[in-house]
Amino acid sequence: MFFINFKMGAIDCKIHGLGVGFYETCKHINFAIRSKKYIETFDLPIFGGKLCRDCYEQIDFSFIDNLGVNRNDLDSILSLPEEQAQIIEDTLTLIYEQFVWQRGIVCLFCFKEFDKYS
Ligand SMILES: [Zn+2]
Ligand SMILES: [Zn+2]
Repeated sequence: MFFINFKMGAIDCKIHGLGVGFYETCKHINFAIRSKKYIETFDLPIFGGKLCRDCYEQIDFSFIDNLGVNRNDLDSILSLPEEQAQIIEDTLTLIYEQFVWQRGIVCLFCFKEFDKYS
């Protein structure tokens, strides 16, 4: 099992050691990695968590897409009027908390190993 200290942003991976970087994932990816089942992964825009297809497709990104910007491009989101950019940030924060936050943590190297099968 992983030990994670959120405040320090460090992870102690039993395979790759202490202090390597990590990704946050939805609980399904976390489970898949631990079960050695390989599933597709998708990035949560801007916040960067890893989501499985089911989680990703549950999210309605029209609050970004309807503004005519690329949901994965931070620069284009930041070019919006501040009020709109703030709404995007607030909404992504809620999505992040719902799908990713404290759902799963995986070290960068373990994720790379996992992701090459997906
Ligand atoms: Zn998921
Ligand atoms: Zn690892």
